[in-house]
Amino acid sequence: MRTAIVTGGASGIGLALVRALAGRGVSVTVADLAEPAGPPAGKVEFARVDVTDAEAVAALVGRVSAERGRLDFMFNNAGIAVGGTALEMTREHWDRAIDVNLRGVVHGVLAAYPVMARQGFGHIVNTASLAGLVPAPLMLPYTAGKHAVVGLSLALRAEAAAHGVRVCVVCPGFVDTPLLDNANPGLPATRIGSAARQVIGRAPGRLYPADALAADVLRGIARGRAVIVAPASGRLAWRLARLWPGGAVRVARLAAGLASGPDGRSPGGG
Ligand code: NAD
Repeated sequence: MRTAIVTGGASGIGLALVRALAGRGVSVTVADLAEPAGPPAGKVEFARVDVTDAEAVAALVGRVSAERGRLDFMFNNAGIAVGGTALEMTREHWDRAIDVNLRGVVHGVLAAYPVMARQGFGHIVNTASLAGLVPAPLMLPYTAGKHAVVGLSLALRAEAAAHGVRVCVVCPGFVDTPLLDNANPGLPATRIGSAARQVIGRAPGRLYPADALAADVLRGIARGRAVIVAPASGRLAWRLARLWPGGAVRVARLAAGLASGPDGRSPGGG
């Protein structure tokens, strides 16, 4: 039976991936800080793991691969939203974003890649963001960490092919998940962070459903894609950033202006 670990699998995109995988007969371990509210159907187990704890992630991967005799998929998906202007955000915002969104992925790779290289197969799927492909403003620690995850994933993909291990990176645009209501968890509040959903609601295009994204991800994996970008508006933004980087910065500047509201201040008071 194929086996998967999904970090951050108790909510949002991770939970949708867990449902989609379990629905296809994959045995799934959800690794998260707290259990999912409604446990998904299928062969799904929960493990309380903080991805910032490298040893805990390594212990989980070791246990699951030993018990099941194989590890087919490692979804390094856990993440937090960190947002605000570059002037508002402190080193605390930077450290937390890097610890969870970048080091969390590094810990998953350090744990799963040697296991997969030894067995000669496996797929590492890292969740970055469209913010890892374009100059997304008002969330610099998030944008920087996600760009790093894209670079890490593509470079590892090149190296891992020789060991039969596949690697891809998922770069979603805005997806309708609880993340948008919980920016800067445990961190000093910022005006834009407290109003993330309201701000994003002003952006063109609707929020993408997590289940639709999970279906895109599994399709992308089956097709051997290196970078999975969804929805279509995200693919357009990515194309613009590649073909006309200066234009992408101009669009980002406009978006930052829109997000800041008509008086130049972000909504949500302050
Ligand atoms: P979510 O908040 O719904 O789910 C994230 C999950 O990660 C939660 O269950 C949370 O408990 C878990 N998590 C957070 N910190 C953790 C830690 N230290 N250890 C273990 N688990 C931890 O958010 P989501 O929107 O489903 O986000 C999933 C991934 O998708 C994240 O990496 C996020 O950056 C990325 N992403 C989200 C969007 C979006 O618009 N929602 C867009 C692009 C990328």
